[in-house]
Amino acid sequence: MNTSTTQKIDIQKAVTSRIGQVDFNNLTFGSTFSDHMFECDYKDGEWQNPAIKPYGPLTISPGAKVFHYGQAVFEGMKAYKDDNGKIWLFRPEQNFLRINKSSVRMAMPEFPRDIFFEALTTLVKLDQAWIKPGPGNSLYIRPFVMGTQVGVGASPSTEYKFMILTSPAQAYYTGDVKVEIAEHYSRSANGGVGAAKAAGNYGAQFFPTNLAREKGFQQVIWTDASKHEFLEEAGTMNVFFRVNDTLLTAPISDRILDGVTRKSVIALAKRDNITVEERPVSVSEIVEAAKNGSLKEIFGAGTAAVISQVSAFSYHDKNYDIEKQENGFAARFKKELTDIQHNRGEDPFGWRYEVL
Ligand SMILES: *Cc1c(COP(=O)(O)O)cnc(C)c1O
Repeated sequence: MNTSTTQKIDIQKAVTSRIGQVDFNNLTFGSTFSDHMFECDYKDGEWQNPAIKPYGPLTISPGAKVFHYGQAVFEGMKAYKDDNGKIWLFRPEQNFLRINKSSVRMAMPEFPRDIFFEALTTLVKLDQAWIKPGPGNSLYIRPFVMGTQVGVGASPSTEYKFMILTSPAQAYYTGDVKVEIAEHYSRSANGGVGAAKAAGNYGAQFFPTNLAREKGFQQVIWTDASKHEFLEEAGTMNVFFRVNDTLLTAPISDRILDGVTRKSVIALAKRDNITVEERPVSVSEIVEAAKNGSLKEIFGAGTAAVISQVSAFSYHDKNYDIEKQENGFAARFKKELTDIQHNRGEDPFGWRYEVL
């Protein structure tokens, strides 16, 4: 793997900023993009011409492999501005390692560490005005890679484009989240691509999620593909169950996305002397816990919403409500995580990464 390069990033600044047209109090998640984007091409066996340019459309041949075979991976991370105007990332090394892990699974070339970090920090600094301080505010960062070689032959692309977009975000309120436990569809399977942030994983879950929505649920809790016996992820998030005072979550495998939020919640819980069990969590034990009152909380964990509390679940067409916990684990981890992210508290694990 070529992990380092001496290439300089070419910077072409936007002549005028679009920031004045943006209502920062009314943002729809991921739909407004800041002034600049990063682009780098892979050709002749190497990454070349790294450039930051004004955000705008691309010209790509309709014959490019990504459109035919979905050879694409992505990442999601955030930059935060603290009350003194300093800018921070949260565990960006994890996203760097993961995008390359995803790329390897999709037969795509890994991206060099030094250009990744230089692109990320240069882009965030250039568009720092797009990051608002205050609780819930952040700049969502979307690195992605796609196969751009022209040709519909079913083989890996020999050319790729690596890009980073950034998008201002406010607190992501999910409201009351009711979930349906999957009994037919699956998100991932043994030996599949579930552990990669492959674009197609999301495409494939839209249809079953729509079916659940029609029945009044916001999300699906994915179960193992073979027997639908074990609870694996919730929507596009990792999932935690609190039974009495023990925290349960599925172990990392090739069916589970190794979430940064998930591993951060586990670290915080262990530090706080909460028992955490990373093991297969069966549907039957959670149904039983719901019946006998020991199921206290279910929550999703992921970068976009941080922690998203589940208020009810359905299994075999039966609904189970989860009583709202006033000072539950979900609220506590959300506060602990966002305090670290926004530089409002100690950073005992060294997770913050100073940009500016
Ligand atoms: C991105 C993602 C997550 C969450 O990962 P974070 O690093 O915490 O944002 C969980 N599950 C799936 C399927 C994902 O794609």
